Amino acid sequence: MNKEDLEIFLAPEVAFDEFERYEAILRQAGIPPGKADYVHIQRRSIDARGRQPLIRLRASIYTKGTPKELLGPWFVYPNVNNQKRPVLIIGAGPAGLFAALRCIELGLKPIVLERGFDVRARRRDLAAINKEQTVNPDSNYCFGEGGAGTYSDGKLYTRATKRGDVGRVLRRLVQHGATPDILVDAHPHIGTNKLPAVVQALREAIIEAGGEVRFDTRVTDLIIEQNRLRGVVTAAGETVEADATILATGHSARDIYELLDRRGVLIEAKPFAMGVRVEHPQALIDQAQYRRTERGLLPAASYSLVHQTEVQGRQRGVFSFCMCPGGFIVPAATAPGEVVVNGMSPSRRDSRFANSGIVAAVELEDLDVRQHGALAGLRFQQALEQRACLAAGGTQQAPAQLLGDFLKNKVSSQLLETSYQPGLVSVRMDEVLGPVLAERLRQGFRDFGRKIPGYATNAAQIVGVESRTSAPVRIPRDRETLQHPVVAGLFPCGEGAGYAGGIVSAAMDGERCAEAVLAVLS
Ligand code: FAD
Repeated sequence: MNKEDLEIFLAPEVAFDEFERYEAILRQAGIPPGKADYVHIQRRSIDARGRQPLIRLRASIYTKGTPKELLGPWFVYPNVNNQKRPVLIIGAGPAGLFAALRCIELGLKPIVLERGFDVRARRRDLAAINKEQTVNPDSNYCFGEGGAGTYSDGKLYTRATKRGDVGRVLRRLVQHGATPDILVDAHPHIGTNKLPAVVQALREAIIEAGGEVRFDTRVTDLIIEQNRLRGVVTAAGETVEADATILATGHSARDIYELLDRRGVLIEAKPFAMGVRVEHPQALIDQAQYRRTERGLLPAASYSLVHQTEVQGRQRGVFSFCMCPGGFIVPAATAPGEVVVNGMSPSRRDSRFANSGIVAAVELEDLDVRQHGALAGLRFQQALEQRACLAAGGTQQAPAQLLGDFLKNKVSSQLLETSYQPGLVSVRMDEVLGPVLAERLRQGFRDFGRKIPGYATNAAQIVGVESRTSAPVRIPRDRETLQHPVVAGLFPCGEGAGYAGGIVSAAMDGERCAEAVLAVLS
């Protein structure tokens, strides 16, 4: 099999046209079209350094046959219906679903218990949050099939490349319906309009192979005997027993943290980050990044910003988080009486708005660990979310302020148009955030305004609060066996346990936990 690798820079019009791209690549390689069997794009990124932004491609041309591993299918699932010792998986987010599929590959039968509904029924509850301002504590932007990742941007970029096989997660997503572009793009994403179908296909694969997925099944208690987890109790009073339980309930399952604390299962407070979401016209970000008003075929531009701040002698990073170009701000609260914002975007990223979390690190010394113990971070988050809700009138409307006004300490007489459907209420955001967090964010925004022209002005508004960036609690586990150090049979997993931050890293952790379960059960 002959293969030639090359790197090529193409205008967007050529790069995104399949035929023209193919011809340009072969031309650069000096290979006549009839001689190539397959042109494989390995990587696609944007080079915006020059006057004209270009698309940079790394490609391989195969002239003697096409390697099978490039085309898939990559995964085969044996039938595990008759397996005697099922593995219990709590939560059907990326961690839980990928743990289930890996279990199946390893010959184990997964039983997934999920408090929320399937992706289709879940939509009704999302509409109720946006239109009627009511939050169902079991079905919302964080809870339900696919977890917090389903109605998101579906960004699949991760820095945690050492924690597992990123390529395997991406290939699994492609096998179950995600666009193959995610195997190529430097910053891959799926989009909220495409994610539900992928999530549903993952679930169907689990069931087809003999696994189980039970919706509307909230775990409310743990059966622990002599430091061993024997099973769980559900809200309906049912007991489900297993020798191994993967706990993948995400960072918003506060009742699970409270349950562990009440049951005396060791958990620890952990650092996280909190702040606001900032919304700009997408055109302003495009102009700054591409230096042209019309972006044409180029994707909606994004940014990544970070600044070190110092307030009251304590240094803390302020950084952009989960930037959503061409996206929407969404209400991500999981209970009435709190306001939490996050962001999502459709696959085409074609809304007129760019939004991003801008958050400051919260360290253990910022928390009242003496009073609240392991739940200190959780209480801190909760208090901020409740203040945000109260400040904006007690519904899912969110407190907001123009960014220029926030920097000048001035109430905004009028807010801008927004993508946040429940609506915004003009408030002084420093009163919601408290003086220290507000000052950190101000320092960060001033710096970002120096980096991106027009960024820190009244062309933008900040919306509160971005508080669910990562888990405020860690559920410890043994490095080797991945079991809880005190309670055997309990495998803390994914973002909620403190071992992932994002869809791909959660999925990888799910796979790791499945492998760890096999090692312990066999
Ligand atoms: P989760 O996805 O939180 O899943 C946990 C599951 O457990 C939920 O389905 C929940 O209902 C269930 N559960 C909780 N308690 C119980 C219980 N007691 N009994 C039974 N089930 C229970 N990450 C990215 O990488 N890219 C993005 O673009 C991105 N955008 C996001 C946008 C939004 C709006 C949100 C909210 C998050 C976004 N994230 C994104 C973060 C990402 O979704 C999470 O990092 C990821 O989903 C974590 O996976 P997980 O499986 O560990 O937990």
